[in-house]
Amino acid sequence: MKKQKIMSESHVLVIPYPAQGHINPLIQFSKRLASKGLRVTAVIFSSQALLDHTHLGSVEVVTLDFHIYEAAKISVDDYLKQFQATVTRKLTELVAELNSSSGYPISCLVYDSMMPWVLEIARHLGLIGASFFTQSCAVDTVYYHIHEGQLKIPPEKLPLTFSSQPVLEITDLPSFVQGLQSKPEYSSLLNFVVSQFSTFMEADWIFVNTFKALEEEAVNWLASHRSIRPIGPMIPSFYLDKQLEDDKEYGLSLFKPNPDGCNEWLDSKETASVVYVSFGTLATLGEEQMAEIAWGLKRSDCCFLWAVRESESTKLPRGFAEESSGKGLVVTWSPQLEVLAHKSVGCFITHCGWNSTLEALSLGVPMMAMPQWTDQPTNAKYIADVWQVGVRVKANEKGIVTKEEVERCIREVMEGERGNEIRRNSEKWMKLAQTAADEGGSSDKNIEEFATEVACKSK
Ligand code: UDP
Repeated sequence: MKKQKIMSESHVLVIPYPAQGHINPLIQFSKRLASKGLRVTAVIFSSQALLDHTHLGSVEVVTLDFHIYEAAKISVDDYLKQFQATVTRKLTELVAELNSSSGYPISCLVYDSMMPWVLEIARHLGLIGASFFTQSCAVDTVYYHIHEGQLKIPPEKLPLTFSSQPVLEITDLPSFVQGLQSKPEYSSLLNFVVSQFSTFMEADWIFVNTFKALEEEAVNWLASHRSIRPIGPMIPSFYLDKQLEDDKEYGLSLFKPNPDGCNEWLDSKETASVVYVSFGTLATLGEEQMAEIAWGLKRSDCCFLWAVRESESTKLPRGFAEESSGKGLVVTWSPQLEVLAHKSVGCFITHCGWNSTLEALSLGVPMMAMPQWTDQPTNAKYIADVWQVGVRVKANEKGIVTKEEVERCIREVMEGERGNEIRRNSEKWMKLAQTAADEGGSSDKNIEEFATEVACKSK
């Protein structure tokens, strides 16, 4: 039987960093909080959001203009300064406006951990401040060590042997850590991700988009420094526990679906026969690498669905999409959750973004891990060696994953005893993800406790 919802007057603002991989989990979290009886408004800083409504179910959505693409013309540091100043001003105005117009004063700000300075706004306005970490707890642990001065960059001794982690070689570390010496521009990005911990001790709540069974040691280790709440996986309810009716997609996209019809195409394929390929919303590949993937897919002789963003599509070998027609479908944006949930998909070639990783894990899809940058190498390490739900590609001395390697890895995931073992593990993790999200599960309980406390404090 469903528990009685808390019916609350409390009004929470949820503020994701304006990138798709941050908007998705925080929008999902907003829906979860609303399902627990809180009033929730999600605030999107973007001029790009493809939104033709102001509500996603019971979550209100406010879009505030911020031209993220101006970032290309200025340094990362200047961009972040501009972003902070704009958000601080617009958010303060929005809270005042909602307090006077909505009838439900704001009592709490849930902010993306990449915007730790939102806590100052919360403090200034006398509100509860809750930080939401969108990356894995393992990656958070690496950044926490750097923040605390316990890990010097470059590391003094390798491999790293943190107590809560498997042995991490240099290639398993986030790219901003492993590539800092060769890429000076990573210095600002490393500061940016490590700064997530600048309000770690002060925030009233810390949420992490993971679940306890998935990262038990890292969760326990971080929790030994301060209380943290795993609330993941933040995947639409339809794919997990069906707690929210009609919750099949995140609902707020910065990209246009193109073309429709992935599902119909997948319907025409055999069970577990299709390789789905996506490198997420930010990673960019070189032309040579794109060609090797294309020829590797061809050599594997599997059907494939490849999401190549519009900005990347000129890098495909000329005529490849047309030539592959029937066997392969190339789209500029896929409905990824529906694709991963489709029975025809047997392998996901992924860049190992944390959302893609959690989505594949929660839907039981085996992975071929091909990390590109940021937190992805660490996620790939866990996919291959800890959860054993996939294989990780090996690049050659030029840093290219060759067509032979692509073919080898696809076969390893799709065929033989190793493939069977990976599929068994994938099913195990899928069930554990569902258990955590289910009513009364470890993640659901954390959300419930937060909603109850916010509701009580606002009375
Ligand atoms: N995504 C999608 N369709 C695509 C590519 C990506 O729906 O064609 C979604 C995907 O489901 C995920 C998000 O975009 O929720 C990407 O986040 P992730 O953390 O995996 O990678 P990032 O883009 O942040 O590197």
